[in-house]
Amino acid sequence: MSHVTADRYAWTEPGVEDLGGGVHRIPLPLPMEGLKAVNVYAIADPGGVDLIDAGIALVPAREQLEAGLHQIGYELGDVRNFFVTHIHIDHYSLAVELRRTFHSVISLGEQERANLLATKEMVNGNGTRFFGIDGLRRLGALDLITQLSAERRQPPALIDWEDPDRWLTDGTDLDLRTRTLRAVHTPGHTRGHLVYHDATAAIMFAGDHVLPHITPSIGFEPAGNRMALHDYLSSLAKMINLPDARLLPAHGPVRGSVHERVNELLAHHDLRLADTHQAVLAGHATPYEVAQSLKWTRRQRRFAELDLFSQIMSVNETAAHLEVLAARGQVTRSVSAEGTDLYQVAAAS
Ligand SMILES: [Zn+2]
Repeated sequence: MSHVTADRYAWTEPGVEDLGGGVHRIPLPLPMEGLKAVNVYAIADPGGVDLIDAGIALVPAREQLEAGLHQIGYELGDVRNFFVTHIHIDHYSLAVELRRTFHSVISLGEQERANLLATKEMVNGNGTRFFGIDGLRRLGALDLITQLSAERRQPPALIDWEDPDRWLTDGTDLDLRTRTLRAVHTPGHTRGHLVYHDATAAIMFAGDHVLPHITPSIGFEPAGNRMALHDYLSSLAKMINLPDARLLPAHGPVRGSVHERVNELLAHHDLRLADTHQAVLAGHATPYEVAQSLKWTRRQRRFAELDLFSQIMSVNETAAHLEVLAARGQVTRSVSAEGTDLYQVAAAS
């Protein structure tokens, strides 16, 4: 219809985008519905290349990374560092695979330790825990547990979840020869998420914290975090307190201003919190009931139209909004005899 719609996926096209100053965007394919690619950013100098994020450990992604690096005059063996924004498989797993051959150094946010540990437990233990069955019971989504058990879904890639070489803490300055990047802890999408900020060049490698077209999933991480949305909103505010920068996201095209997008995201969550509050006011009590009463995606789809995986994400996201309302005193939470969370509008005092 419009150019915006027509070009919506232009950023996923294989190739290399030169962003100036030795920085290149290399989109790598993903086998996931909805999320077609992940951006890896190469920061090159005559001695080698450092990468922000790594892609998923699957052959098409590896080949496309190799081709992209070739195009700018490098080999996989020239990669010195992977600075990974967070633990999710589409950002971390290819780094682990390539390290076996090329001995590059992987850095990851210190607070991802808990997620890595929980992921290893899930992979080694009961496979169904991969989608947080225990959590779904608490959120009142018994239907989804039944459907999940019937599906026997396989994870998108079988990978080894190994530790990074280096755990980065908030505020660490990384000397990359051509520039200094500051690792900024931005919990929310995951508890250990980092963005990498170059204040001098005014660019922000934002990972999944600030995405141009979509809102990052909240409340869906292996170790679980009830206050994920609360943390996320604080981490958005943190971006406003830093000087504005060009937005280099992990999914979607490069945009001119981090601040502009952060303000849109804050406005989105304000509306979402208001809708969630209304739903509780209307008598929906469990996160599952509330999620079913809300509209989803930019297209305002009904909950029942979403695929199972999106429904699970949506229920988790709804729970995260309910917890923010509870922290603000707008709703209260109690627990049913079956262990399900029940919310009601706080009595006016
Ligand atoms: Zn991602």
